[in-house]
Amino acid sequence: MNSFALLVGQEHITDILESAAAASRNGAETQSMTHAWLFTGPPGSGRSSAAVAFAQALICPNNGCGNCSDCTSAKTSAHPDVEIIRTEGLSIKVEEIRELLTRAAWAPSLSAWRVVVIEDADRLTESAANALLKAIEEPGTRTVWLLCAPTLHDVLPTIRSRCRHLQLRTPSIGAVIQVLINRDQISPDMAQFAARVSQGHIGRARFLATNEMARSNRKVIMQLPMKLGSLACAFEAAQTLVDIATIEANTASEKRDELEIEKLREAYGKGATGRGMATGGSKAVKELEKEQRSRAIRVVRDSIDGALSDLATFYRDVMLVQSGSVDAIVNSDLLDEIERCAHKTREDSSTKKLEAIMQARAQLAMNAAPLTSVEALMCRLAWP
Ligand SMILES: [Zn+2]
Repeated sequence: MNSFALLVGQEHITDILESAAAASRNGAETQSMTHAWLFTGPPGSGRSSAAVAFAQALICPNNGCGNCSDCTSAKTSAHPDVEIIRTEGLSIKVEEIRELLTRAAWAPSLSAWRVVVIEDADRLTESAANALLKAIEEPGTRTVWLLCAPTLHDVLPTIRSRCRHLQLRTPSIGAVIQVLINRDQISPDMAQFAARVSQGHIGRARFLATNEMARSNRKVIMQLPMKLGSLACAFEAAQTLVDIATIEANTASEKRDELEIEKLREAYGKGATGRGMATGGSKAVKELEKEQRSRAIRVVRDSIDGALSDLATFYRDVMLVQSGSVDAIVNSDLLDEIERCAHKTREDSSTKKLEAIMQARAQLAMNAAPLTSVEALMCRLAWP
């Protein structure tokens, strides 16, 4: 399968990328093939998948087949000419970018291009972004930079003005349902449910459809609006939300952390006890553990953010019912609760509640203390 085939609902950009890759093969470094690209789009739209698919198309002898050893190794950043920078911490520091620049300047070893994908260009510190800017201004003739960020505003204007910009869109619910059924062999009913409540976020939809614990956690979160009878209840609800999101995030992190450590120990020539590792092994393990701790904090924040956006769909549904558009609601399984809430409260109070959720998400994105932000939010949601 062509590597672009995995991009759902993004036909408008796959055409551009395919023709750019074709142009690069013909040696035509014209307008369609440029050295710096910026992929933006909401979470779940697949911006990094698009960048990786493009990287594959540039280095694969079969135009990005998705199956050959070049394509598969590019995907995991194991290809000598493809480097994918995935942020472990909250930011990408200038030292990291300087090291990267040295490697990026080398000529490609196997393919026609050296491709660097930066998955979270929005997490570049200002000095890191400035260091990167120089490389993008004067790129090596065989180096291609693929940057990803949620929106254009998350990237320095000097950087974005030098990149060709591609905006991904949230795939339609119908497109997500089709992928879940056809690619992931999920039953139609489950695919319907997961795609609907995930609002076009395909990764989240797949996770919900295949993970029973995630589904039952979501159920608890979506009952919270009905449990905000007093301030004490609001604090309790905040604790519940943070606890659930933390456990869900940590479960995912633990599995990944263990695997990474195991792989690193093997690379240094030893199994699980760590004894007998080559020089530098235990230091490398310690560094990895430090990175994993900082990533764990980020994963918990992302998980709380996910729970808050689930919660937002509840109040959005309440607003829809208040304006007479019952058919458009997302949480049809909660219709009774939503209708009760719609009759009890006024339309402008639903708007305020939605705003409060957006504010709390923005605070979390700025590294505010999670529990405090969620407590403040729940108190505002408890107001009638
Ligand atoms: Zn291939």
